[in-house]
Amino acid sequence: MPNLPPPSSAATSADADLFARSLARVVQAAQHARIDPETLLRLSAPARTIEVSIPLRRDDGSLQVFRGYRVQYDDSRGPYKGGIRFHPRVDLAEVKSLALWMTLKCAVVDVPFGGGKGGIEVDPRQLSTAELERLSRGYVRALADVLGVDRDVPAPDVYTNARTMAWMADEYRVIARRLEPGMITGKPVGRGGSLGRDDATGRGGYYVLKEIEARRGWSPAQVRVAVQGFGNAGQHIAQLLHEDGYRVVAVSDSKGGILQPDGLDVPAVAAHKQAQHELPLPRGARRLGNADLLQLEVDVLVPAALEDQLTEHNAEQVAAKVVLELANGPTTGPADAILHRRGVLVVPDVLANAGGVTVSWFEWLQNRTGEPWSLAQVHERLRACMRTQFQAVHERATTQGVPMRMAAYGLALERLDRALGAGGTAADFARG
Ligand code: GLU
Repeated sequence: MPNLPPPSSAATSADADLFARSLARVVQAAQHARIDPETLLRLSAPARTIEVSIPLRRDDGSLQVFRGYRVQYDDSRGPYKGGIRFHPRVDLAEVKSLALWMTLKCAVVDVPFGGGKGGIEVDPRQLSTAELERLSRGYVRALADVLGVDRDVPAPDVYTNARTMAWMADEYRVIARRLEPGMITGKPVGRGGSLGRDDATGRGGYYVLKEIEARRGWSPAQVRVAVQGFGNAGQHIAQLLHEDGYRVVAVSDSKGGILQPDGLDVPAVAAHKQAQHELPLPRGARRLGNADLLQLEVDVLVPAALEDQLTEHNAEQVAAKVVLELANGPTTGPADAILHRRGVLVVPDVLANAGGVTVSWFEWLQNRTGEPWSLAQVHERLRACMRTQFQAVHERATTQGVPMRMAAYGLALERLDRALGAGGTAADFARG
């Protein structure tokens, strides 16, 4: 029996409406933005949706076929930009939503990119390193025609990393028969990658939290933080907060979490996770489930895993005062409304986790000019960018009396409106 993929989950899963829900929030935000109606019309569907089959020769000699996607949402502000996710739950509705969020995110932080996203429906933990390399190269072989430094620039996302990017950049070089390092970002340092890209998503979120700290007069030692997800973003923000004196009391990965009310020794937890691929149980700590972590008595909750974690079923139980969204789409629309009513400040993904794409932009600039930046330069410009955009979004939210997500989307929509409407809209053409 040939090893065929099961029917696409997009048609059946509850996620099929994820994109509809994502779009509905954009429509809602448009009520608070000065934009032409055509802008919303233009943003109501991706410019291009590509589904590919990627054959993989397994180490045991068998053949397996994987489904891959690339969604190019909008490029009115610059080349499509967005990561590639390897995850068993990847489907078209998810990739479309993630591509829409990238479009908004790049506009929120005002980097000259459009929005895109890609993914492969695969559990990478079931594959050997050599199989992962062949799969990554297969993805680029299937999509090379639509990628490029001025066309569409991928990057890492869930379960992909700098090494994945190195394989992909190399495959592109083989196909194009020339070097084009700026066609992908998040590459290893020394292979065209930027210093400071690795921890950029966590660091961007950390800089945002420092702005909130200043406004609320917090002293870090008094602030308790729980981090859901211990991948690239979660691990780095936990480390940065710990170094700064914050009390990171709980962290979790896909298997569950650990809680230590006095604060975890984050570097030790990270070292153990790195070596053993699982979280340790330090002395004095106890295990807890991912759902319980979201309801802990903490000051700051950092969802840094996947979509739809805070919903109408658990938002009433969130005890944190601030939710810093390092994951993409962790809070549903109904949960947003509940949290806003309860006075919980939700810093939306399109701002809180935009440090990653911001440093991707720095990497792309370095690749184009051939001039490397120092780590201090990267940190300084990232901090300045996050501060400026946080202030803009925060001020807008306060003035309009809307949640920060609505303010961030509104700001993004106005920036997109300038690009999309540059050639004129119905009003201009009707005049003749
Ligand atoms: N995957 C990251 C995100 O969701 C980074 C994207 C990029 O650097 O292009 O923002």
